[in-house]
Amino acid sequence: MRLTFLGTSSGTEPWPGSRHVSTAIEAGGGVYFVDAGEGCSVAAHLGGLDLLATRAIFITHTHMDHVGGLPNLFWTMRKLGLIAPVKPHALTGRTVRLRIPFLTAWEGMLQMLRHTQGGFALDWSIDAAEYADGEIFRDDHLAVRALHNTHFGTPEPGQPWRAFSLRVESAGRSVVFSGDTGGIAELVPLVGDGCDLLLMETGHHRVEEVCTFVRDAALPVGRLGFTHNGPATMRDKEALRRAGADILGRDILIADDGLTLEV
Ligand SMILES: [Zn+2]
Repeated sequence: MRLTFLGTSSGTEPWPGSRHVSTAIEAGGGVYFVDAGEGCSVAAHLGGLDLLATRAIFITHTHMDHVGGLPNLFWTMRKLGLIAPVKPHALTGRTVRLRIPFLTAWEGMLQMLRHTQGGFALDWSIDAAEYADGEIFRDDHLAVRALHNTHFGTPEPGQPWRAFSLRVESAGRSVVFSGDTGGIAELVPLVGDGCDLLLMETGHHRVEEVCTFVRDAALPVGRLGFTHNGPATMRDKEALRRAGADILGRDILIADDGLTLEV
């Protein structure tokens, strides 16, 4: 699978050269998104991704830095369908799946979209659903498993978890996305027997501490990467790349907007 980092910033103040977090995955001719921060649609389209090949969108939690670009992503997909040179276009008659831990947030966005243009009528459909721990998606090319984390603390008894980390698998390769998390230790079950890439956030956690944990726990991670970067990481990525490599004994990845990566 091929990853494109559409946005690598945490929910901090607007930062030059970086948008809020969103990562696109190309697999089996389809496009999938993990989180949909501001501007993910323009970044994807101008970056050469085919939005009409979108199959599913996975939201880790409904904070604005993870969903701010979601309505615009759907709006842009609809627009591209309307102006597609070939009709029916690639999305016609198909269903795009949205997996989101708080459906009420999506219903609000949909309400807004219905008042933007043409009643937001589609010749394709959106299947939106909340999810819980376990497998939340599978098609012929990609599977996603979710595990709750404590980014929102622990819910009251009887209330659902609303923040998740995700493990994405495709063609025998695997990527674990931290989402926003209470800590790297929460990701250990998703790493399991190993993953090819672990993407950890630095909006709430420090690169050095994460590298130290991965080293000391001998976490079976092929490559350790960082996204959803907070100001402390953005300010000096090069120094942190060196510090992380010193701790871990191998290179780490601190993602920049626009980076593409074959996993
Ligand atoms: Zn966030």
